[in-house]
Amino acid sequence: MTATPTTLVWFRDDLRLADNAALSWAAERGPVVGLFVHETVGRPLGGAAAWWLRRSLENFRASFPAPLIELSGDPRDIVPRLARELGAEVTWNRRYHRNEVDAPIKEATGAVSHPGYLLTEPWEVRTSAGRPYRVFTPFHKAVQSSLLDAPPTPLPAPDIIPAEVEPVTADRPPEPTWTATLAAHNTPGEQAAHTQLDRFLGALADEGTYDNDALDGVTSGLSAHLRFGEISPDYVWHRAAAAGTWAFLRQLVWRDFAWHRFYHLPDMATRNVRAQFDRFPWEWTPGDVPGDLAAWQSGRTGVPLVDAGMRELWATGRMHNRVRMVAGSWLTKNLGIHWRHGEEWFWDTLVDADAASNAFNWQWVAGSGDDAAPYFRVFNPLTQAEKFDPRGNYVRRWVPEANTPLYPEPMVDIKESRRTALAAYDGIRTG
Ligand SMILES: Cc1cc2nc3c(=O)[nH]c(=O)nc-3n(C[C@H](O)[C@H](O)[C@H](O)COP(=O)(O)OP(=O)(O)OC[C@H]3O[C@@H](n4cnc5c(N)ncnc54)[C@H](O)[C@@H]3O)c2cc1C
Repeated sequence: MTATPTTLVWFRDDLRLADNAALSWAAERGPVVGLFVHETVGRPLGGAAAWWLRRSLENFRASFPAPLIELSGDPRDIVPRLARELGAEVTWNRRYHRNEVDAPIKEATGAVSHPGYLLTEPWEVRTSAGRPYRVFTPFHKAVQSSLLDAPPTPLPAPDIIPAEVEPVTADRPPEPTWTATLAAHNTPGEQAAHTQLDRFLGALADEGTYDNDALDGVTSGLSAHLRFGEISPDYVWHRAAAAGTWAFLRQLVWRDFAWHRFYHLPDMATRNVRAQFDRFPWEWTPGDVPGDLAAWQSGRTGVPLVDAGMRELWATGRMHNRVRMVAGSWLTKNLGIHWRHGEEWFWDTLVDADAASNAFNWQWVAGSGDDAAPYFRVFNPLTQAEKFDPRGNYVRRWVPEANTPLYPEPMVDIKESRRTALAAYDGIRTG
């Protein structure tokens, strides 16, 4: 009789028990031990994401019915060594970046990988010419029809036999002091993710419509839960499709699209997708925080909607999608500051900071990405506020001094700076 093999499940962006293909696969085989590595290679997590991760991990450890080994270091050393020591097979759910880390580990251990972070694998969705998509609408059509043909069937949480291994807790990366306010606005963890989905679908059933334009509209609030894999996109699809919330599901496909593009352009966080933007005269002072950037970061630009968004972000780790677009447009177009500064600030301060979605959306806002608007769009933050915050509730909440003598004038003239941005765009458009 052969001994039942132990399986080492390396958790990364999949801190959940339900609909976790790697975990279910391991549980079928025999005893299970979990591993989480605080990786010291690649882009470090931002402060708000590190705050979320710590709580998500604590939550996961409390519910995981097997030992969890938490270590800090380079997974290329840790995972093969641990697999050898435990005599374990390795498995994980795929991620679509950090291939320089995962590929050699797969080679060394023969790890078995599974899908589960996205609705579709980025290499599977192709145009009729066999190329990756560059435009969202046909991508969405292709994804939606494939999911309608073969709807996702989420897996239940498996029964797990714990391996006889001592759990280990690592020295976790330190958290910046400014993250102290996040607890009042965020509840990380699998259970909270499911509660949030139930609440969202319940609100839609009661009030009707999903609306990610109006600042008081109903949206899911699931982005950070999805980012850390506390809930699977397949499960969200499954529930939301049953409720017929197609406008929301279209938005969920944007997440897949951002990863589809990022998978094919892995330097998207640092390099313009459209090369002519290399000549765009953005202000760029690496390693320095010039005054205009600092004012934008701290919500002191003199533009109420932008300041409201930036203050909301700092206090809560969240920002409404519409305000992300308006604040990003103000930074890159009216202030003329390079989008990479905005991407880095959001990376550090958003609880949902996601390698693909953040980079993709910043390039979209700056105009340097593919599937950017067909023209170089400069949002007018005043008309955006009138349209999407007509009663001014959102601005009043975060910028109570707006419309009083205490509040400053905009840092730059809105019309004049718009003209300058359009002229700069004209200058790079050809060639
Ligand atoms: C400059 C900028 C930066 C952004 N950075 C991030 C980021 O780092 N991480 C992130 O998850 N989203 C990012 N977004 C997208 C979007 O703002 C958030 O996903 C959304 O506000 C989250 O709120 P929600 O969960 O209530 O979304 P809902 O409106 O309920 O949408 C459902 C889900 O779809 C996905 N989604 C929605 N819109 C987008 C989008 N435009 N791109 C990609 N996925 C989307 C998210 O996973 C979201 O949870 C960014 C947008 C902009 C303009």
